[in-house]
Amino acid sequence: MRRAFRRQARKAFARQVPPILQEANLAFDKGEFGRAAELFERIAAGADARGGPRAPLLHLQAGRARVLAGQTALGIPSLKRGLTLLAERQQIRRLYNTKDRIANELKARGLMNEAADIEAWVKDIAPSASEFETQSSILKKHVLPTHCPQCGAALRPDEVEWLDETTAECGYCGSPVHEQN
Ligand SMILES: [Zn+2]
Repeated sequence: MRRAFRRQARKAFARQVPPILQEANLAFDKGEFGRAAELFERIAAGADARGGPRAPLLHLQAGRARVLAGQTALGIPSLKRGLTLLAERQQIRRLYNTKDRIANELKARGLMNEAADIEAWVKDIAPSASEFETQSSILKKHVLPTHCPQCGAALRPDEVEWLDETTAECGYCGSPVHEQN
């Protein structure tokens, strides 16, 4: 009886984090961007095929890793696929925040044409920006751990889903992450 309960509790609370995701995050953190990109591309393709909620972020991270590896041309399709999924899923605030960050990262590396391309392209696929403006005004400041305790992904407050006031869901593996005080 008690054993059955424990097994159920474990099922409810522990989440299976795929080793390949932990490997990808570790490679990214170590600066092995080419390796990280290959892994994220594989994970993203799987999530995309399933219509998974984490597909956009995984594509974006694959693209970011390619850019950091100096393989910009290989990264742009992943970045655009991630942004397209955000637009399709009406995640407008995240779409604009992500577009800004990608453009800044590209500009910081001197990739002005690529940055302009991404900005023009998001303008084409995005719905009207008015909704985004009302949403951004209610965005509050959260303090998260720097990395997901389960999969090791670097966490950004605008890349997680908030489950309640103090708990977010890791965008990469879906584990709950508690806000720090
Ligand atoms: Zn995670």
